[in-house]
Amino acid sequence: MSLLLDLSTREAEVRHVEEVGAHFRLISLAAEGFRGASWTPGDMVQVIISGAALLGPWELRSYTPLAFEPDTGTARILWYVHGNGPGSHWATSAGVGTPCRLVGPRHALSPPKPERPFVFFGDETSFSTAIAIRATPSSRRDVRFVFEVNSVEESRTVVERFGIGDAVKLISREEDDRHFGEVEREVLEAYRSVAAHSVLTGKASSIQRLYKALRAAGASGRQVNVPYWAPGKKGLKGH
Ligand SMILES: Cc1cc2nc3c(=O)[nH]c(=O)nc-3n(C[C@H](O)[C@H](O)[C@H](O)COP(=O)(O)OP(=O)(O)OC[C@H]3O[C@@H](n4cnc5c(N)ncnc54)[C@H](O)[C@@H]3O)c2cc1C
Repeated sequence: MSLLLDLSTREAEVRHVEEVGAHFRLISLAAEGFRGASWTPGDMVQVIISGAALLGPWELRSYTPLAFEPDTGTARILWYVHGNGPGSHWATSAGVGTPCRLVGPRHALSPPKPERPFVFFGDETSFSTAIAIRATPSSRRDVRFVFEVNSVEESRTVVERFGIGDAVKLISREEDDRHFGEVEREVLEAYRSVAAHSVLTGKASSIQRLYKALRAAGASGRQVNVPYWAPGKKGLKGH
């Protein structure tokens, strides 16, 4: 078990933690084993949240670095603190020097592959991925972002802080998904006016609805769909 743990995961530690509003943490994780690793924006790392003790059980949670430095082996992740699971709790308790084990970086989605323009949909868990798009060769050019969020105000501060605020539409979640009509309108409008392709992330049921809406509207471009979480499910891995 110990050998398996050593071979399949990388020892890491927290180098930096910053509270970005009440519900977000910007966390830098450094791993010797990350030095020289290759990373493409959109790739994920998986953090072993508990069970790093040899007997496990292992609980892996997936996160998308918004930036990755192969020279220092450091991944920077914008972590959403939703408050319902061990990954979220880990982010609130992590401090400089907290050890952890990581898997990756490994492929999750490829934002550069849908040729521009494209529409990117997601929620708070997708901010880190959206920010990572800055590191693609075309940066944010010709990308429209639509996010469903719990707090428009807090999210606005976050996206502006990371320099993607001007291309972002934030829509406040409402009970029974009453806001979803607006989400569909925004995504379809972005799609019709500028976007030939789409990248759908975030809540699984939202992705399903948008996927159907785009198909019904005759969308023929490339669609990349990566569910990040679903109510009642634990630790989605994105495929
Ligand atoms: C490829 C990939 C990349 C990801 N990148 C990021 C990232 O960069 N930053 C980030 O913050 N997250 C990211 N996520 C999402 C994150 O992995 C999930 O939110 C995960 O469930 C968190 O683990 P947890 O232990 O906190 O909750 P879990 O134990 O996995 O889930 C427990 C319960 O919490 C609830 N829950 C989970 N997520 C949310 C949420 N967002 N809002 C409300 N309730 C929720 C669900 O009801 C679930 O049943 C990514 C996911 C994938 C698959």
